[in-house]
Amino acid sequence: MKKLLVSLMITLPLMAMFITISCKNNKTANSEIKVPAFDVSGIDSTVKPCVDFDGFANGNWKKHNPIPSTEGSWGSFEVLDKENREVKIKGIINELLAQENPQKGSEAQLITGFYRSYLDTVTIAKRGITPIIPLSDKILATKNPSELIALAGELAKINMNGPFEVYVSADDRNSTMNAIFVAQGGLSMRDRNYYENKDSAMVKVRAEFVKHIDKMFSMAGWDVKNPGQTVLDFETKLALIQLKNFEMRDPVKIYNKIPFSELQKLAPGINWVDYFKNYGLNTDTLIVQDKNYLKNLGQLLKSTPFAVLQTWFRWQLLTTYANLLPSEFNKESFHFYNTVMYGVKTQRPRQERAIMSVNYRLGMPLGKLYVAKFFPESSKKKVSEMIENVRSVYSQRIDKLTWMSAPTKEKAKKKLAAFTWKIGYPDTWKDYSSIDIQPDKLVENTMNIALWEHNDMIKKAGKPVDKKEWGMSPQTINAYNNPTNNEIVFPAAILQPPFFNPDADDAINYGAIIGVIGHEMTHGFDDQGAQYDGNGNLSNWWTPEDSKNFVALGKKLENYFSTIEVTKGFKIDGKLTLGENIADLGGLTLGYYALEKSLDGKPKPEPIDGFTCQQRFFLGWAQVWRGNMTNESLINQVQTNEHSPARWRINATLPLMKEFSDAYGCKGTAADTLLIVIW
Ligand SMILES: [Zn+2]
Repeated sequence: MKKLLVSLMITLPLMAMFITISCKNNKTANSEIKVPAFDVSGIDSTVKPCVDFDGFANGNWKKHNPIPSTEGSWGSFEVLDKENREVKIKGIINELLAQENPQKGSEAQLITGFYRSYLDTVTIAKRGITPIIPLSDKILATKNPSELIALAGELAKINMNGPFEVYVSADDRNSTMNAIFVAQGGLSMRDRNYYENKDSAMVKVRAEFVKHIDKMFSMAGWDVKNPGQTVLDFETKLALIQLKNFEMRDPVKIYNKIPFSELQKLAPGINWVDYFKNYGLNTDTLIVQDKNYLKNLGQLLKSTPFAVLQTWFRWQLLTTYANLLPSEFNKESFHFYNTVMYGVKTQRPRQERAIMSVNYRLGMPLGKLYVAKFFPESSKKKVSEMIENVRSVYSQRIDKLTWMSAPTKEKAKKKLAAFTWKIGYPDTWKDYSSIDIQPDKLVENTMNIALWEHNDMIKKAGKPVDKKEWGMSPQTINAYNNPTNNEIVFPAAILQPPFFNPDADDAINYGAIIGVIGHEMTHGFDDQGAQYDGNGNLSNWWTPEDSKNFVALGKKLENYFSTIEVTKGFKIDGKLTLGENIADLGGLTLGYYALEKSLDGKPKPEPIDGFTCQQRFFLGWAQVWRGNMTNESLINQVQTNEHSPARWRINATLPLMKEFSDAYGCKGTAADTLLIVIW
């Protein structure tokens, strides 16, 4: 599924949840507490909470938990992710490895076969780049752009990037049916900013990119003159005709339904017919992200020397499969994509990478075993209660909004009531048994998995949407909101401490998992989500006046975040992060009032460790987002990602809340001057 879902977190998945219990002093559970609800030793009491809440709540933790050399950032998500991989998933794989001759196509055979092929470095070294040579030869055998684009349709089936991407997903304006989409693609550094930003840090990355490509071609023994500069020049031209990252967040702008014949008119130089034929799709209509891009792309391909296009496609082949080739290739790829781009110093050991690779490629077959072992069914009930609690608080919040009129409130509540949720894992598992996996064929195994996924995707074209399908594997530490299903989804792995801790006092859980559930629910009403109705259709349900008020509030939030410099020369992009910032502010507000509701009519809870219930709520949120980041990772995040850096999810968001100022007795915070109460 190439379509992006709105998630809680960057590369790692997110998380989310919360709990309905009241804010009581949970003394009885003390003897069973495995993870401290909030470890006060992480606090740095020399920092003033009103000035720098992250520094206050997490300062000592951050001082004592430097980033390991194998990581680009290190915080709550990464710590849990490592434990998940290195203990739980590794345990499952080790048990499977003990089985003798597992049945062909069974989970055990797929997982152990792939795992063994990843660790068989002797065979990998012996085979060299021979597994990808036939594809390189095919690229070299093409005689003109038309033949090359036709071939690109075949290559896209095995995960190779082309200058555009075609995928099947729910039609945003008819959300029960699947449609075919055409989007921009082909940037090896993934975001336009990496090609056009003039900051010296970005100039340095581009110089390293050129060196990296030269080295990869040289190691492959491919005799091409200056491949690095050739690829950079071509991708820069490609980048400059693409939509910027924040523009792609506008669902109306990127929804352009056209007949197939119009593709030919837009970009007559592109061989659409053979591309689609080789890709396995046939359609009369499709939805394109940006007609101008396709038009300009047609011209760019026409004006680019054919040899350059061949070099670029061979580069795509080499970089797509670099991690599966002999170690000199994956070391070089690690150097650029991890060290240069994220500041990661040391590559993880091969065995750890083997586990990650199995988890990434065979996430669902592995997930089936994961949930059987590690997901208590009781969590489903607890989490569903929490979600319903947030839903009812959300409804009350909508009633109280001063900036929204009654007719829009009614529609908002209708959408809220129509929300659905998924918890833990899918009800039904797909059948992966036809994938051919051999213990000594790593590259072919990976291609076979990609082909299976491709077939699974294309067979949906023009068919009704399967609303039960999941977009994340259950062992993913993340959560998401899928606007066309009007649903929020919480995989099993996010439902553990420090996100969800049944043994913790309530205030901490409200600040953590309930805040996260609120975050996902608010995505249904952020600047993007609010454009979809309760049936998941892109359709405007706002009165013009209410819409104007909503946009103005968003603009205030955008301007506020855009002033924040996270590292020298790099500020948060308030436009790119608007949806996430709305979701954080909304999620925290919902969590806070859910906590207040739970306290209603009960005796005032005693402080714990000297912190009131309300103060602990904000500590719970801060604990979720604590972490250290390399400067490179920070730059990467603000240049490419729709989430504000974790430190600012605490330090920029909390001061906007009067509830925070009241809890800590702060004066002169943003809440005093900027009234941004959206939800
Ligand atoms: Zn989010």
